[in-house]
Amino acid sequence: MIDTHSHIYSAEFDNDRPQVMQRAIEAGVTHIVLPNENLESVQRLLDTQVQWPDRISLALGLHPEEVRDDWSDVLDRMEPILERHSWAAIGEVGIDLYWDKTWLHQQMQALERQLGWCVDRRLPFIIHCREALDEVLDVLGQFRGQMPQGVFHCFTGTPHEVDRIRLVGDFYFGIGGVLTFKKSTLPEALPVIGLDRIVLETDSPYMAPVPHRGQRNESAYVADVARCMATHLGTDLGEVDRVTTDNALRLFPIQH
Ligand SMILES: [Zn+2]
Repeated sequence: MIDTHSHIYSAEFDNDRPQVMQRAIEAGVTHIVLPNENLESVQRLLDTQVQWPDRISLALGLHPEEVRDDWSDVLDRMEPILERHSWAAIGEVGIDLYWDKTWLHQQMQALERQLGWCVDRRLPFIIHCREALDEVLDVLGQFRGQMPQGVFHCFTGTPHEVDRIRLVGDFYFGIGGVLTFKKSTLPEALPVIGLDRIVLETDSPYMAPVPHRGQRNESAYVADVARCMATHLGTDLGEVDRVTTDNALRLFPIQH
C-alpha cells in the first residue's frame, strides 16, 4: 500500500518516527508521500526523506491555511526550491474556508500560481479543499486544455460532488480515515469514484480511522482504511492494495 498523504515529518512524530515507520512497513506500506505546508517545513520534509530515501517522496507547495498577504513573496522564495530537489507533486495546495474566509482571494491566486508550476513541470497536484469546492473548481477550470493531473486529498464528499469534479477533470480521490466514520457519505461515493481512481492516505497525524479514532494517526492505519474500503466495494484487501498502489504509481513520479 502507498500512503499518499502523511505529515510524518511534523513534531508530533519527533519522539518515535523510526518506530512509526517500522509499524507502517510491517502493515504493508511500501511508500509514503509527504505534502509540504510552508517555507519552514521544507527542511523537515528533506530531513525525513534522507532517513528513508527509498520509501518517501515529497511534494512542495504552500498549504491554503498558510496563505496570507505575503503569499506572493512566499511563493517567490519557494519556487527556486523546485529546482534543487526532486519532487513528486505540488502540494498541498488549495482553498480552505472552514475557519476563516478572510484570505479567499489570496488562496485562489496562490492556487492558480502553483497549478501553473504543475503545468510547467508536468507534476501532479495534491489539492486540499474544505468548504470550497466551487472556488477550487473555478481555479482548476482556468486550466482547461492544459489540465494537470492530481488528487483531491482527504475527499469526504457525496456522489454528486464526485460528478461535479469530473466535469472539470479526470482526477484521483484520496480516501482516508473519514471512510470509517459512522456519518460518512463516502460509502455511497466510493462506487461512483471507482477503485481505479482511488488512492489511499492517512493525513497523519490527523483523521485516524476507526478503531483508532481520536488518537494520533499513522501510516500503518491505512490498512484499516483499505479493509473498510474492500468491504464497501465488495472486494478483498489484496485487490484494494494492488489497484490503489498502481493508481498512486501512475499519478506520482515516485521511485518504487
Ligand atoms: Zn495534509
